[in-house]
Amino acid sequence: MIKLNDLYFKPFISETEIDAAVQEMVDSIADDFQDDIPVFIGILNGSFMFVSDFVKKYPKPCEVTFIKLASYEGIKSSEDIQRLIGLTQDLTGRKVVILEDIIDSGNTLEEVHRIFENENVDELKIATLFYKPEAYKKDFKLHYVGIEIPNKFIVGYGLDYNGLGRDLPEIYQLKTTQYMTNLVLFGPPGAGKGTQAELLKDKYNLVHISTGDVFRFNIKNETALGMLAKSFMDKGELVPDQVTIDMLNAEVEKNSDAKGFIFDGFPRTHAQAEALDKLMDSKDSQINAMIALEVDDEVLVGRLLERGKTSGRKDDADESIIRNRITEYYKKTAILKEYYAAQDKYFGVDGVGSISEITERLNKVIDNL
Ligand code: AMP
Repeated sequence: MIKLNDLYFKPFISETEIDAAVQEMVDSIADDFQDDIPVFIGILNGSFMFVSDFVKKYPKPCEVTFIKLASYEGIKSSEDIQRLIGLTQDLTGRKVVILEDIIDSGNTLEEVHRIFENENVDELKIATLFYKPEAYKKDFKLHYVGIEIPNKFIVGYGLDYNGLGRDLPEIYQLKTTQYMTNLVLFGPPGAGKGTQAELLKDKYNLVHISTGDVFRFNIKNETALGMLAKSFMDKGELVPDQVTIDMLNAEVEKNSDAKGFIFDGFPRTHAQAEALDKLMDSKDSQINAMIALEVDDEVLVGRLLERGKTSGRKDDADESIIRNRITEYYKKTAILKEYYAAQDKYFGVDGVGSISEITERLNKVIDNL
């Protein structure tokens, strides 16, 4: 991911893909023009890199020139096209190929056709490396198209966002969701995840989702989901993955404008971790860190029995159920440490001490992300 001015962009089309598309365009144009010497006209500024790569690959003699038109303001294609440098040579009787970096609304192309209205060229062909069919509103024929792309703003390979990005050798796409901080708060039952999550969500302006809390809310309201989850929860077992994943997806969707999430009690299995990555990816985002509260088993049992005296939670009242929850954690959940460590996203934090001491340790990790 990269940041240009105030916006974030994600990798979209690689150098290799661009190179292959340029080569294909060269081949088909060279094939059509045979021994004629075409005049390639690049539309500045955006097309400079494409034109350069294109003519280097072109296998036969050709001429190259540029005209300069300005159309973009920020990330919007404007109707008002300015002609900054026009044609500087007589093209009467010549075969002309316009080399455009991108065609979206077609406004620039309309201006190009206006420029050529009174030039008595033999042929005028349009070639564009990138084309946004959903945005195109004109009827001009596009003779050669490199890569069709969705109607999203791109930068790189000659294209800019407010001046930046033209120098990038690959294409990046504007992230639809701008920067989010997404944390997985991890640790065995009783580690203090819920308590800390409540404090962190206020400090960092994040949405806290506790899967255990959502299940308990559903049980209290006697929903179908609650009834299903209850039988597993009462025994200290995990609720089946698909049920949990669907529920989590729905919770995230409910908060579509969140600046980020604290996931508490999720993921608990490998399948859930993969589902979470997929969900974050669909939001153009990612999990930034898994922060684990590390606490010894005997301390956990003591804490949970103490909590059971007032929480009303069945799974906190019985020592054997508590131990089963801890066993489930080590059997199914602790492996996720490796999943996130492999991505350099695992941070262990000592979970023994006062609430404020632990919060401070967590803040330190988050502030360093
Ligand atoms: P918690 O409040 O996080 O301790 O969760 C209480 C119980 O809810 C767990 O013992 C499970 O039965 C169920 N649960 C919560 N989160 C999940 C999850 N991610 N996957 C499966 N079961 C879960």
